[in-house]
Amino acid sequence: MTTEVTSQATASTIARIEAIPFRIPLRQSIAWKQSVETEAEHVLVRVTDEDGCVGVAEAIPRPTIHGETTASVLAACDLVRPVVVGRQAWERPVIVQQLDAALVANHTAKGAIDCALADLWYRRLGVSCHRSFGGYADSLPISQTLGFGAPAEVAAEARALRDEHGIAAFRIKVGRDVAADADTVRRIRREQPDALLYADANHGYNQLEALRFARIVGELDLAWFEEPVPADQVVARERVASICGVSIYGDESCTTPREVGREVLAGRTHVVCLKLARMGFAGGERVRGFCETVGAPIVMGSQGESSIGVLAGMAFGAAYPSTSQYPAEYGFLLRLTDDLVVDPVRIVNGRIHVDPGVGTGAVIDEDKLSHYRID
Ligand code: MG
Repeated sequence: MTTEVTSQATASTIARIEAIPFRIPLRQSIAWKQSVETEAEHVLVRVTDEDGCVGVAEAIPRPTIHGETTASVLAACDLVRPVVVGRQAWERPVIVQQLDAALVANHTAKGAIDCALADLWYRRLGVSCHRSFGGYADSLPISQTLGFGAPAEVAAEARALRDEHGIAAFRIKVGRDVAADADTVRRIRREQPDALLYADANHGYNQLEALRFARIVGELDLAWFEEPVPADQVVARERVASICGVSIYGDESCTTPREVGREVLAGRTHVVCLKLARMGFAGGERVRGFCETVGAPIVMGSQGESSIGVLAGMAFGAAYPSTSQYPAEYGFLLRLTDDLVVDPVRIVNGRIHVDPGVGTGAVIDEDKLSHYRID
C-alpha cells in the first residue's frame, strides 16, 4: 500500500511550463525613487505535469533593480524549458542547479520556476510547503513600505495603516533629502512610539549624507538602515556601517547567496533581506543556513508580491524561527485593487496567517487570470 501511494506521488513528469504576464491596477499610485507605480505588472509561472497537477509562482520583474523585464522573464522561461519539461518534480534541487548552468542572472525568473516546482511537488504529495519546510509559526507580523511624500502625508499613511490593519512596522523610503527624510521619521516616531521603524535609502545618499541622516535620527530608535549608499562604493559603505550607529540592512547588495556571504562577512551588512522573489526557495535555504550559522538576522523581504508570492513567502518565512523573528514585508498587497487567487491573502491585526492548504496554498482564479493577463 505504501509503495503504491509513493509511486503515484512521484510519477509526475512535467509536461509544460508557462509564463503568463498579468497587470493589476493599484488603488493609488505610489512614488518610488526612480518611478511612479500605478499598476503591478508581474508574471505567473505555471508548471503542469502529465496528470494535470499544477504548481504556480509569481515572478516580479524589476527593471530598475534587477534588470529583468516582463519580456525577459518570458524569454528566460522559454530558454530553460528543456531543463524543466520531461523531468520529475522531485528533481527540483538538481533542476535548480541546471537552471543556473543554463542561464546566468535572471534571478526572478529562475526563482519563480523553483517555487512553482516546489508548489507542484508538495501538491502532489498532498502536504503544505509550510509544514514540510518546518512549520514553526502559524502567522507572521507584517510591515508596510511607505512611498515618498510630504512628511505629514507619509505619517498619516502610517497612522491609517495602523488604525485599519493593525500594522505596526514601517519601512520608510528616504535617500532624497536628509532634512525632509529625517522629519518624516520623526513624525512617525512621535505618533507611534512603539512601532518598528526602518529607513530605506535605496543607495540614495553619499556617505556624508548617510552619516548625517543617521546622526539626526539617532534618538528615534531606527531598527536598521537599508542600503544607505551605493553598494559598490565599498569604502563609503564600510565607513557608514562601522560608525553610523544603526545596523545596516542589505537589500540590493544581497540579491544572491554569494552576495549575502560576501557582504555579511565583510561587515558591510548586518541584517539580511531575504526575498524569495529573486532567489526562490532553494536560494532562500542557502541564505537562511548561512545567516543562522554566522548569526546575521533575517527579514523576509518583498518585491511587491500579490497573494501568489506572499503565500510562497509565508510558507517559507513562517517555517523557521530565524525567518519569523521580524515583520515580513508583505504589506504591498494592500495596494492592489484585485488579486489572481481564489482566496486572497488578508492582513488581520497586523498579521498574515499561513494558508493551511497543500503546496503554497495558491489556487488561481481562472476568471481573474483571463481578465488580468496581458499576453
Ligand atoms: Mg530596498
